[in-house]
Amino acid sequence: MKRSNFKTAVMISLLTGTVMFQSAGAAQEKKSPLRIAVATFSHETCTFCPDPTTVADWEFYGPPTRDILRGNGYIGGFKRMCDEFGGVELVGMTSPRDSRGGSSGSWLTREAFDKYAGLIVADLLQAGRLDGVYLALHGAMAVTGIPKPEAELVRRVRAAVGKIPIMVTLDLHANEDQELADAADAVFIIKRYPHYDDGLMGETAARVMISTVRGRYKPVMSVRKPGVITPSVFQGTGTSPAMEIMERARIWENENRGAYVSVAFGFAYADVPDAGAAVIVVTNNDKKLADRIADDMSDFIWRRHKEFAGKVLPKTKEGVALALKAVRDGKRPVVIADHSDRTGGSTHILEELIRQGASKFCITTLRDEKALETIAGKKTGDVVSLKLGGYSDKYAGNPVTVDAKIEFIGKSGRDRIEVLQFGKNNRVILTPQLMQVTDTQIFGRLGIKLDELDIIVLKSRVHFRRGYADTGVAGAIIEVDAPGWGPADLSTLPYKNIPKGLYPLELK
Ligand SMILES: [Zn+2]
Repeated sequence: MKRSNFKTAVMISLLTGTVMFQSAGAAQEKKSPLRIAVATFSHETCTFCPDPTTVADWEFYGPPTRDILRGNGYIGGFKRMCDEFGGVELVGMTSPRDSRGGSSGSWLTREAFDKYAGLIVADLLQAGRLDGVYLALHGAMAVTGIPKPEAELVRRVRAAVGKIPIMVTLDLHANEDQELADAADAVFIIKRYPHYDDGLMGETAARVMISTVRGRYKPVMSVRKPGVITPSVFQGTGTSPAMEIMERARIWENENRGAYVSVAFGFAYADVPDAGAAVIVVTNNDKKLADRIADDMSDFIWRRHKEFAGKVLPKTKEGVALALKAVRDGKRPVVIADHSDRTGGSTHILEELIRQGASKFCITTLRDEKALETIAGKKTGDVVSLKLGGYSDKYAGNPVTVDAKIEFIGKSGRDRIEVLQFGKNNRVILTPQLMQVTDTQIFGRLGIKLDELDIIVLKSRVHFRRGYADTGVAGAIIEVDAPGWGPADLSTLPYKNIPKGLYPLELK
């Protein structure tokens, strides 16, 4: 065999596994394509928030659909890798879309969970021959009456498809434990917050799925719970210890071919029995290695627990004063991360900005359906006197009365969006739901010039860093711990279901 032929032959068999070369020029045997089912059912549930997540919320943006094999997220990455391998047929299972309100939604109703799990299972039973199932989940779903919904979903899928590989990708805000690993064959979790690597993780799942179906990989998993629960605002992977934890995971992966080392930092605002950080390690049939890595990662996270969970952020008055000082120091635009507002209609920072005489600020955005109703029927340029926000949950503060000029009336997808200008060139962008704004494009679409803003208030924990910090837009970033259902101090939350012994709730 000539060297070039040999290279070609090896490459083809490694990449696709579909062509067998017995010798140069020999007959080729082509196998039938792999058939992999793909489904998604993804929610980050703020169980302390007031509004349950119902079937109507899941279908606000349209009915469940099989048309899920698109986009740049987890499933997009999975598809991309399968297309590169070739010889893989992906079959979309009927899956719900995003829910209205997203992670400002509280407990999913049992009806909603059963409905969408049922649609996925019904499609699997009808799908014909399958070689594997890929589930793109989140991991922080909370369902009334179902303690660990992702594990339950995988068990229902297992009952439908039998012993073929079931692989799962998760957000790093997942709350999971051994139960999910017992149910699934492999679990992979993104390593970046902001979540830049969802597509990459879909690719990883596809590669391991194909290798497993081809018999070249036999996934085994080890799970550890380091005993730490942390607020989202401290989990950004641009800073340590989050950055060092993920770097350590990558070192283990780089030193051990076939090892996939995942860390879920967890979602502290879901009061569920598998809350707290988790380490999930997948190896190629090497349980000892998986245990060794999982132990090391868990120990490492525990060694950093005080830095990870014990920081203190400025409260409203101090935080707003810091923002005004940063403006005076020329660091505009200053971004205030109103990180604790999980429902989107809190007015604490708005009220304090007015009290401290701030100008040129923009609340981006304030959830207020009532104000949107009040403005309905008015037109751009009209002046209205109305109350803003202060009712979306019990920590949302007081309604703030303003005399405002309507600057913009329009739509963002199916939802209304409006801009009011008031006071000293201040603005508020109104939406009917919490909107976590992660880039600056919104301003252009609404006719607001970024360089006219001194202060931008965002209802976001860390995701805003994608469009404001990582792009260099923000002159300064102030994380403010206003009252809300997403506080930095977790000891203020009325937990009932989380496991005992989690730092910092119970100091070890
Ligand atoms: Zn997340």
